Amino acid sequence: MIVVMSMGHEPEQRDAVVGRIRELGLREREIIGVERTVIAVLGQVYPELRDEFATMEGVDDVVRISKPYKLASRETHPEDTVVDLPYGVRVGGGKTVLIAGPCSIESEEQLFEAARAVRRSGAHILRGGAFKPRTSPYAFRGLGLEGLRLLAAAGAELSMPVITELLSERDVESVAEYSDVLQIGARNSQNFSLLDEVGRVGKPVMLKRGLAGTIEEWLLAAEYILSHGNSQLILCERGIRTFEVATRNTLDLNAVAMVKRLSHLPVLADPSHGTGKWYLVQPMALASLAAGADGVMVEVHPSPDHALSDGAQSLTPDNFDVLMQRARAVAEAVGRPLHALPAAASR
Ligand code: PEP
Ligand code: MN
Repeated sequence: MIVVMSMGHEPEQRDAVVGRIRELGLREREIIGVERTVIAVLGQVYPELRDEFATMEGVDDVVRISKPYKLASRETHPEDTVVDLPYGVRVGGGKTVLIAGPCSIESEEQLFEAARAVRRSGAHILRGGAFKPRTSPYAFRGLGLEGLRLLAAAGAELSMPVITELLSERDVESVAEYSDVLQIGARNSQNFSLLDEVGRVGKPVMLKRGLAGTIEEWLLAAEYILSHGNSQLILCERGIRTFEVATRNTLDLNAVAMVKRLSHLPVLADPSHGTGKWYLVQPMALASLAAGADGVMVEVHPSPDHALSDGAQSLTPDNFDVLMQRARAVAEAVGRPLHALPAAASR
């Protein structure tokens, strides 16, 4: 970070800046030019410091030089991270993966029907929510532990890794016991104590972008998880809040391409939550792959009209099958072909 002093600043103002730098445990290097004095701040700086220095007397501007997220950045880790899951499924590393399944696990019959269908069509990972973040407390909030057990059973029967969301630190242990990937949803993407906790369990995590989260905030959230030594982390763009109301969210494909450039972590896209409408899911899934996503996550329900959550954005098994075929073509065209099917099915 570089602090640019204003022209004609007082010596005490420069001393105050240097004093504050030292007080923070950082070091400084001062460059006195003909017109300007700039002070380079050396050490671990964090985003809020920029405003802190920019509002000090005698300071004209503050310029950040390096990224505030270190472990998530390509600056410190140029090679792509690949996340290893059971049944030989790998996320990242040049292949495309499809995660599919119902928004919520509603019953054994509903989950298994959806799971068998997506497996048949070629999905790699099974999703299903047991703990549902709902806007209204009166909406269906998931089957909890029973849902986790059903999900693990479906994954085992079909030889598919499974992913599910957890809402609270209280559930970290049970979700880690039953699920291969722990999903942090959009609403919890800055729940820092939950991020700390999933960083500590050492199981793969998928971190969604917050509803109104900037790319930098998202990568700093990733940094929380990585800072505990858990490098098995996947990012997922799921749409952000904008002024547009024709769609539930605005799937930000800029973010997919941008984060692939800024970070080594695999990036997926979720066009189901990103659009809110089933008929937009296929085009935006294909667009996500074309934009550089390492895969997509979509909601599939055997009977979307009767779904207890997110029916409007859920694909029927037939529509998912069509999506898979088109995803295969796009994935090949952009040089990231579909990953092989999970191991047990290819035997
Ligand atoms: C989900 O994937 O079921 C979900 C609730 O997504 P998000 O956190 O993106 O809203
Ligand atoms: Mn959903």
